[in-house]
Amino acid sequence: MYLVSACLAGINCRYDGKNTKIAEIEELVKDGKAISICPEVIAGLNTPRDSCEIVITDDGTKKVISKDNKDFTLAYRDGAQKTLNIAKIIGINTAILKAKSPSCGCGQVYDGKFSGNLINGNGITAELLLINNIKIYTEENFKEIYPF
Ligand code: SF4
Repeated sequence: MYLVSACLAGINCRYDGKNTKIAEIEELVKDGKAISICPEVIAGLNTPRDSCEIVITDDGTKKVISKDNKDFTLAYRDGAQKTLNIAKIIGINTAILKAKSPSCGCGQVYDGKFSGNLINGNGITAELLLINNIKIYTEENFKEIYPF
């Protein structure tokens, strides 16, 4: 069983109320081979919601901040923990997550300035899953393990 970002499975859960469906990932869920989760939705955030990016503070703390400077860090951490809890209950060891997202991004995320530029780093959920030995692919490289 895989864990996949819900927006990749066609769920309209993105901050803008849209999805980023990838047909093969949607099929994975329909075939019962994956569970789709949106960490931000299970944290109780609304859809649509504020667009957020990861910001690293001067003391090295990772925060999640909206364009109008609201701090959503606690909600994002809550969504990450809930996602990890579900993954552990099901026994998931591989996830396919949405690249560049402040929750799901793995390897690169936006730079916190809403500039469109990327920096090296992970979203809050992706990082927690990695620490807990869950292997992560994104929609950009999941074909390394496809067909499933
Ligand atoms: Fe998609 Fe993850 Fe963002 Fe939810 S939190 S919309 S699953 S990228």
